[in-house]
Amino acid sequence: MVLPMTDRLYYHDSFLYDFDAEVRDIIDAPRPALILDRTAFYPTSGGQVHDTGWITSDANAKFRVTEVADMEDGRVVHYFEAERDFDKAALQPGTRVRGQVDATRRRDHMQQHSGQHVLSAAFLRLHDMPTVSFHMADDYCSIDLDTPTLTKEQIESAERLANEIILENRGVDIRFVTREEAGNLGLRKLPPTERDELRLIDIRDFDLSACGGTHVAQTGQIASILLRKTEKVRQGWRVEFVAGQRAVATARRDFSTLTETAALFSAHIYDVPQQARKSLDEIRTLRKQREQSQEELAAAQAAALLAETAEVSGRKLVVRTLADRDLNFVKLLAQKLTRLSPHAVALLATTSPQPSLVFAQSAGLPLDMGALMKETMTKLGGRGGGSKDLAQGGVPSADGIDSALKAIAEKLMA
Ligand SMILES: [Zn+2]
Repeated sequence: MVLPMTDRLYYHDSFLYDFDAEVRDIIDAPRPALILDRTAFYPTSGGQVHDTGWITSDANAKFRVTEVADMEDGRVVHYFEAERDFDKAALQPGTRVRGQVDATRRRDHMQQHSGQHVLSAAFLRLHDMPTVSFHMADDYCSIDLDTPTLTKEQIESAERLANEIILENRGVDIRFVTREEAGNLGLRKLPPTERDELRLIDIRDFDLSACGGTHVAQTGQIASILLRKTEKVRQGWRVEFVAGQRAVATARRDFSTLTETAALFSAHIYDVPQQARKSLDEIRTLRKQREQSQEELAAAQAAALLAETAEVSGRKLVVRTLADRDLNFVKLLAQKLTRLSPHAVALLATTSPQPSLVFAQSAGLPLDMGALMKETMTKLGGRGGGSKDLAQGGVPSADGIDSALKAIAEKLMA
């Protein structure tokens, strides 16, 4: 049995949002879905994403259409929201239904897709760069251009020409021709399908492409095209763009982001890059100054600690918990202590922000700081270790650090 193909109403009228149809088939699994004799719903294909909307039965049961897809046999499947809402009895084959396409979503798709045709033609005319693919996402669209290079000037000139074509409000016609006829028309792109009849989108005196998508009736309805990110891809260059309301929404979002950033700098939005550069330079300078100050402070503190610590059995044992210094400073202090004196053993700790311990000895002393740290970590429930001369560890709580250091010091002094 040959199943009749779905009559695609959108082929002839992209602005048809309401239509009547008859149920041909119900599909249960894997998701509830419906096949109609005719439809204005666009199924995902040719880079354009599907429509959404509603299907209402005679019995007034309303179903939300969440996805529309093409089947290999030429029929169009309308998928519904959820199984629980699916009333099979209301949609038996032969039932008359009314379809309503979400017009806002459809208009957006028309703006993006027609915008793509104009943009692709502009890149081809100006820079001899053919479009090899088109992708439509929820927030932006992209085309891949077959070109090894793409300059800022080429991007801007294509954007300018595309917007001029929009401003000229050229007619966009739908034409049907045979494949043979199409061969002599100089199409921008011939489809790979074997179909005898081709549907052409004709942007008057500017672009002629075979395409099954939904398009505006006049280029002015695209409203505007804004080119965004470009990036090198395997086949050439990818150009992201937004058209129509999306272009306005994107520009609005950019402006809000920039305004918020400019307020942080108390600057005009166009001065933000300069201000950001200045701030980064300042941060770099301050970071360097801070490092130097820390070095000097650690050296001074180490010298003071060594001066006040008596040497016992050829060893200067420095035991300190620093509440207001981070681990980096404590390590720096340990380093200074063991370099300034050949006999120093440092048992240091910090309680904030992360309770940590650092043990160090001057090079050549016989103790094993790594082993001592492991032993201490076992007692305090932390993790750490290190070499013979320098070790560090982190503990879950500052409680017990002082008593642990005291116990080690007593053991070392014994
Ligand atoms: Zn197209």
